[in-house]
Amino acid sequence: MAGTGREAGAAENTGFEDLSDSEFPDFSELGDIEELGSSLGNPRKEVDAQGPWKRKREADAPTPMERFHLGCLWVSDLSTQSWCEQQMVYRKERPGFPSAEKAAVLDAGASIHLARELELHDLVNIHTSTKEDAWAVKLLNVLSMVPVLQSGGTIREFPVFGEIEGVFLVGVIDELHYTSKGELELTELKTRKRAAMPLAAQKEKDRFQVSLYKCIFDAMVWGQVTSASLVHHMKLSPEMLLGPQVHSHARQGGFTVMSFGDLLELTFLSLSLSDLPVIDALKIEYSHQETGTVLGTEMVVFEEKQVRDKLRHHLGYWTGLREPRGVDVKEAWKCRMCDYAAICEWRQSGGTRTLSHEQHAKKMTK
Ligand code: SF4
Repeated sequence: MAGTGREAGAAENTGFEDLSDSEFPDFSELGDIEELGSSLGNPRKEVDAQGPWKRKREADAPTPMERFHLGCLWVSDLSTQSWCEQQMVYRKERPGFPSAEKAAVLDAGASIHLARELELHDLVNIHTSTKEDAWAVKLLNVLSMVPVLQSGGTIREFPVFGEIEGVFLVGVIDELHYTSKGELELTELKTRKRAAMPLAAQKEKDRFQVSLYKCIFDAMVWGQVTSASLVHHMKLSPEMLLGPQVHSHARQGGFTVMSFGDLLELTFLSLSLSDLPVIDALKIEYSHQETGTVLGTEMVVFEEKQVRDKLRHHLGYWTGLREPRGVDVKEAWKCRMCDYAAICEWRQSGGTRTLSHEQHAKKMTK
């Protein structure tokens, strides 16, 4: 599988990280104990989900997607959003804020994912300098993995992308394989610093993540994701010639392509002819970072309506239909290990802040 060695300036808005996006900080770990006690660090009142947070966007006000210059959303962002929307917004606005401890947890998780990926295939680092090249590498990975899956094999770090509910979503599936019953199963690896299974809130966030992967993957194999949609949302130029290293990698893989458009056509043709099944089963495996011990597995029941309702609610923030929300009073324990607790306006106001996007954006740029 190929990974990108992009120049810094070309990294924006490609929509992918090279490794799985499953190892974004597990903000909940420190909170497992807190959740049991559900203690309140700051008294607040419950707020109506449709109350002061619902708003009409002013005609020329940028939506959060525009303000953050996003052509797509990562599944990992949506998953973090389901933990605490306000926290996810702070992470976007203030990257690099998380503590050294959380960064170390993240690094350890990423290393474990990399080791698992290397069990199945070598990694090739490819220099890219344009977003078309960065996407080309992802498409080449799709092209190389589809036949493996078709022949009954196991694949890891499979890129998924597509327009769902009007927004382009991207992600990376940890593993896809067939069970002894012949079902296509997605396995998501979650590593934990503490040698204990997560409690309900973390599991809910993880269930949402894998359910979104299924929505996107199924749309890809059903032919509902189009090259035109990818080009449109990510503002790509099909006529762009592939860079030398990408071109060489494509040739070594047996693909005769010159431009990004050639590769797009080939990838979508391959997907449409592949006859791959949809994902039948969703499994989350929790393991201990230090020892590698499997702590437990969760089988997720895919409930499409609930997943889509939740997704639409999350997208309401991104598309400017409503303000970001922090946690409700019953989840106030999350604030106690949040990196942004000291600056969080939602927390400080007891959940009654009413800053508009524009006011908030202005504050952040001061
Ligand atoms: S302090 Fe609480 S409400 Fe504010 S961002 Fe953190 S978890 Fe969310």
